[in-house]
Amino acid sequence: NQHAREQDIMTSEQTFIAIKPDGVQRGLVGEIISRFEKRGYKLAAIKLVTPSKEHLEKHYADLSDKPFFKGLITCAYYTLPTYTMGNDMGSGPVCAMVWEGREAVKVGRQLLGATNPQQSSPGTIRGDFAIDVGRNVCHGSDAVESAKKEIDLWFKKEEINSWKQAGHDWVYEK
Ligand code: UDP
Ligand code: MG
Repeated sequence: NQHAREQDIMTSEQTFIAIKPDGVQRGLVGEIISRFEKRGYKLAAIKLVTPSKEHLEKHYADLSDKPFFKGLITCAYYTLPTYTMGNDMGSGPVCAMVWEGREAVKVGRQLLGATNPQQSSPGTIRGDFAIDVGRNVCHGSDAVESAKKEIDLWFKKEEINSWKQAGHDWVYEK
């Protein structure tokens, strides 16, 4: 019915969240997933991927004129030597996810905390698990539009799951 459809739309905002190589290497995958789950968000897609340099350039295209861009997508970050020990893949795996729910983009960013972890509040992921900006363990889309682009870049349509969350009505009033 109409009411149910309206409810679905209001809780169907999606955001792209990624646990960066430093987060994966530090064993924070479970912890980070847990924070989104416990908050009430619904996991719509998840995979562990080793992105190519070209893929990361697309992902961070908006930052291409920033001084930290090169380091962000090459040796200073995604291909830190310790991440690649024993293989020549070039970069560490990233845990890519789509989380869904009301205001998922905005609240997702709040869960991550400020970009520079030295300014992130305790209780946020970065505020609890990071110190340096180039090692801030996670990524989250900054707007609904960029979320759409990022989800498109990282996932195929058939990798995004549509399912009814059993606890939906215990998380949302309406
Ligand atoms: N970054 C960096 N130095 C800076 C600013 C950003 O190394 O001075 C890195 C940092 O890892 C950040 C990423 O570049 O997460 C993307 O920057 P953005 O401004 O989009 O921050 P975010 O959206 O991740 O909070
Ligand atoms: Mg950003």
